[in-house]
Amino acid sequence: MKRDLLQLFYLLSAILFVMGLRGLSHPKTARRGMFLAELGMLLAIIGSLLHHEIIDYRWIAAGLGLGTAIGVPMAIWIPMTAVPQRTALSHSFGALAAALIGISEYYRHGAALGSLRVGVIALEVMLGSLTFTGSLMAAGKLQGLIRGYPITYRGQNVSNLLLLAAMLGLIPVLMFVPTSTPAFYTLVGLAFFFGVMLVLPIGAADMPVVIALLNSYAGLTDAAMGFMLDNKIQIITGSLDGSSGFILSILMCRAMNRSITNVLFGAFGKVQEQPAGALEGRKAIRQCSIEEAAEILGTSRSVVFVPGYGMAVAQAQHRVREVADVLKSKGADVRYGIHAVAGRMPGHMNVLLAEANVPYDELYDMDQINSYFPETDVVVVVGANDVVNPAAKRLRGSPIYGMPILEVEKARVVIVCKRSLAAGFAGIDNELYYGDKTLMLFGDAKETMVKLTAALKS
Ligand code: NDP
Repeated sequence: MKRDLLQLFYLLSAILFVMGLRGLSHPKTARRGMFLAELGMLLAIIGSLLHHEIIDYRWIAAGLGLGTAIGVPMAIWIPMTAVPQRTALSHSFGALAAALIGISEYYRHGAALGSLRVGVIALEVMLGSLTFTGSLMAAGKLQGLIRGYPITYRGQNVSNLLLLAAMLGLIPVLMFVPTSTPAFYTLVGLAFFFGVMLVLPIGAADMPVVIALLNSYAGLTDAAMGFMLDNKIQIITGSLDGSSGFILSILMCRAMNRSITNVLFGAFGKVQEQPAGALEGRKAIRQCSIEEAAEILGTSRSVVFVPGYGMAVAQAQHRVREVADVLKSKGADVRYGIHAVAGRMPGHMNVLLAEANVPYDELYDMDQINSYFPETDVVVVVGANDVVNPAAKRLRGSPIYGMPILEVEKARVVIVCKRSLAAGFAGIDNELYYGDKTLMLFGDAKETMVKLTAALKS
């Protein structure tokens, strides 16, 4: 009976996970998708608690208590802008847990598991260990604890490939000689080391892809663990997580016009011909006041807002929508241009604008909005920098060279709202600020938008 109930819970949660993922594929249904996925997770946990092999619930209770004590404050206090680091940390915890379970299985049962199971454990422990250290490195780079620049040395790709070959070579060795504990623990050590070496040469500007890729490794680890523990829901969730993470990596690569191999082995962004501040003082910028900006916007027929990380930091999304509302009441056509890597996590801008009740049909992705810029009166860039930086098109050797950008400079006027001429995530100057059509509106995005609304209404 208990066993049937468990299978029922697992089946329901698997259905809910698939429905959740489907919901998450569109901003309109994303909230519902998230809720369905959460419900699925709850059912999976309840189902697992019915597992016949559980003889003592005390360790589970302790684990739940500890997890809640860490997870709840993380969810409440970590700001939205630090979500990528938080996500990387979550991946590292999950991967470490999976690696430790694999190590414990091997330690307890060893050769009795048989060749195939030992092979799966070895693969799982390898993926879990490298994802653990790789995710910690990614979190460190995103938080600025480790230099964001690619850290490279001569022969790096060759040594990394040799390391990978050594690890993969140890798996068949363990399958043939399951009792070889030195081989097993060497694999664990190499995998921890490989995770560090894998992320070290990847520049901070490529972190969107890395986070998604580590997500898919964590999923694969879970699927392998599910196979090892004969836990069906874990196989399903791991496969869903692994494949959706992989698809996301491909989408992020596409948004940055990069190939996965280039991200992993290219040490892109090593050459920096124009560090931040290089243009400052050498070229003139044009500033405008709130009143001037309001005057220009008040007479515009078409306005595109381009939000970026700065809007998220300032939590200005509601205030941006208020400016848009006033402009619409004056008869302007208002749109939002969304770059796939704007902000610090996939879909960051969509989430914030949805929270501010911006209608979905006003959101345009890069391909759609770029062709509209030549007929746009004014673009208002709100705390975006790298995603509108023409260096991506013109400056070979720039960390973002080759990344498709929002071509805002094609509009008649560009108003850039940010606090200073400071660089964005990639750490490079932005020639847009010195352009003939550009007006810099310095200030915090939220305060500026409040003042702009007042000026437009007066
Ligand atoms: P950027 O990080 O390039 O620039 C953000 C700008 O916002 C800064 O130049 C800053 O300038 C400004 N800013 C900060 N605080 C405020 C504020 N309170 N008010 C107004 N402006 C403010 O952001 P983008 O969105 O253009 O680009 C995202 C970058 O992040 C890309 O390089 C992307 O690769 C990377 N990335 C993206 C991830 C994702 O998944 N989306 C994940 C990891 C990295 P100032 O200090 O002068 O105000």
